[in-house]
Amino acid sequence: MEKLGKIFKALEFAANRHKYQTRKGVGKIPYINHPVQVAKTLIDYGEDDTDLIVSALLHDVVEDTAQNESQVKDLSGKILKMFGENVLLTVLEVSDNKELPVDERKQLQIQMTPNLSDRAKKLKIADKICNIQDIINDPPEGWPEDRKIAYIHWAKQVVNGARGLNHEMDEYFDEIYTLSLQKLQGSF
Ligand code: ZN
Repeated sequence: MEKLGKIFKALEFAANRHKYQTRKGVGKIPYINHPVQVAKTLIDYGEDDTDLIVSALLHDVVEDTAQNESQVKDLSGKILKMFGENVLLTVLEVSDNKELPVDERKQLQIQMTPNLSDRAKKLKIADKICNIQDIINDPPEGWPEDRKIAYIHWAKQVVNGARGLNHEMDEYFDEIYTLSLQKLQGSF
């Protein structure tokens, strides 16, 4: 029960933080569906570490619901108190610094991913799997096909730095990568 309690506390916390947000897609899907899907992907691929699942549920809370440095600090304090150091460190590891320009953030993800903790690497792969699935199933508004294709190629470069910890999940990423490119390129 202790594990389930922690997981549901994280789910409630994330749902509250993201409550006014929707995904970028045309379907305007509630944001919380995304972290739930990332956590579910990890569980489907055999990951049962509670702190990893809790980190997956909270993985976009800092990046997407804190507006400036003092809010990041505040939120980090809350996460530390409620969920402990493992979770806070993992969430911060997968959070981009939003003060940097987008291109720089993308480049940094490729460069930094090989140095992340095992938890953060697994989380990165599950996150990229779900983002690519969303691009296919609920495409971001106004993204032309070449932008979608560029995202998928970039995601692969990030994932290449995170491989080797969960073979089946690595293979699933490759499958999604190939299928999604076939779909997009076939649509020209
Ligand atoms: Zn995410």
